[in-house]
Amino acid sequence: SKYTREDIFRMVEEEDVEFIRLQFTDIFGALKNVAITSSQLEKALDNQCMFDGSSVEGFVRIEESDMFLHPDYDTFEIFPWRPQQGKVARLICDVYMPDGTPFEGNVRYVLEKVIKEADEMGLKFDVGPELEFFLFQTDEDGNPIINNYERASYFDIGPTDLGENVRRDMVLNLEEMGFEIEASHHEIAPAQHEIDFKYDEALKTADAIMTFKLAVKTIARRHGLYATFMPKPQEGINGSGMHINMSLATKDGKNIFADDTDSNGLSKEAYHFIAGILKHAKGMAAITNPIVNSYKRLVPGYEAPVYIAWSSTNRSPLIRIPAVNGSGTRVELRNPDPAANPYLVIACCLAAGLDGIKNKLEVPKGVGRNLYEMTEEERAKEGIDELPENLYEALKCLKEDKFICGVLGEHITNKYIEAKLSEWKAYKEQVTKWEVDEYLYKY
Ligand code: GLN
Ligand code: MG
Ligand code: MG
Ligand code: MG
Repeated sequence: SKYTREDIFRMVEEEDVEFIRLQFTDIFGALKNVAITSSQLEKALDNQCMFDGSSVEGFVRIEESDMFLHPDYDTFEIFPWRPQQGKVARLICDVYMPDGTPFEGNVRYVLEKVIKEADEMGLKFDVGPELEFFLFQTDEDGNPIINNYERASYFDIGPTDLGENVRRDMVLNLEEMGFEIEASHHEIAPAQHEIDFKYDEALKTADAIMTFKLAVKTIARRHGLYATFMPKPQEGINGSGMHINMSLATKDGKNIFADDTDSNGLSKEAYHFIAGILKHAKGMAAITNPIVNSYKRLVPGYEAPVYIAWSSTNRSPLIRIPAVNGSGTRVELRNPDPAANPYLVIACCLAAGLDGIKNKLEVPKGVGRNLYEMTEEERAKEGIDELPENLYEALKCLKEDKFICGVLGEHITNKYIEAKLSEWKAYKEQVTKWEVDEYLYKY
């Protein structure tokens, strides 16, 4: 590992760190933290810091509420946007029960378990995400204004691109926290942006996604803007995705998805991996697309997938093979959105892919055509299924996919489905403006 206990004490001392945030993520993907002063560091590093688990949604009941935070030393990082005297640092933690056993609702633990399975097969999972988000202007009270004045589109530059300065500030702050930023650009919709960082091992990437969202929101606010990772804040324009680029490597770093002799540059393992993802795409949808609003993004016409298929040539399917060969060979899953819990998304993707490899699942033919231009009959003939239509459908698919439920474990599966069903119910009971406009005068 990167840091020892002594390293942490030394960095806190030398860098004049006064506060340390002990962070963890709940099952719905919300970042939580308990702050301590550096005087409590020893206790924290001894895994003695407690919090009330019954106050975190989806965690535990009041009777068993004391939970312990075990910091992962390697995640020590100083927040560059906080004061440079009396600095603020963070440590990402695993959550444990009072008896010292891992907590089943710790999403990091879910991912760690699947990573271990890959490890036992001699494999390492590399993941590179592409997060998109909107930057909205704010009113005098600091509340976001959704209809804003920005008119820029894909790859535009300033002064049309109003986000240019804030994006640069985000990139510089992220770099100070050890991110390697590969690209950042204006996205296709007004006020929509994307910042891409380099792929890394699965757990590091999941941690990095959480850090990324925090940094983007924090820096946006410093510029008087509001950053949102809501998947589809406005109808009629693109929503925000979180494409997940994946590859498997041997311990010495050889990408096992690459095979130069294949017409798509893909190995047998890569095809089996894709087959596994396709098999479980519906079962994982409630994880990759976790909120009511997620399904407003998965509609034709906005570069987001609807159909369960793969392609090496076009961007309409769920899985695309980017045009790179050799060590850069990867599989891109296009339905996840940035509201999703990255630990659970990555755990499900890896588990589904490994299921494909272990059981030598065969991929259907890749589709070369634009799926949206095919008729329903044509798609049916090719055996192309659709992603769930809404959160409710997705939850039914999750319940039916015993394999994915097994990956999540009983605790998370039950708590997640229960909470999401009540989210769905609250939504379903709404009478929307659309309905009133559409029906009031007709009936
Ligand atoms: N915004 C699109 C989505 O919802 C992706 C667009 C792109 O990156 N080409 O996934
Ligand atoms: Mg991109
Ligand atoms: Mg994009
Ligand atoms: Mg992409």
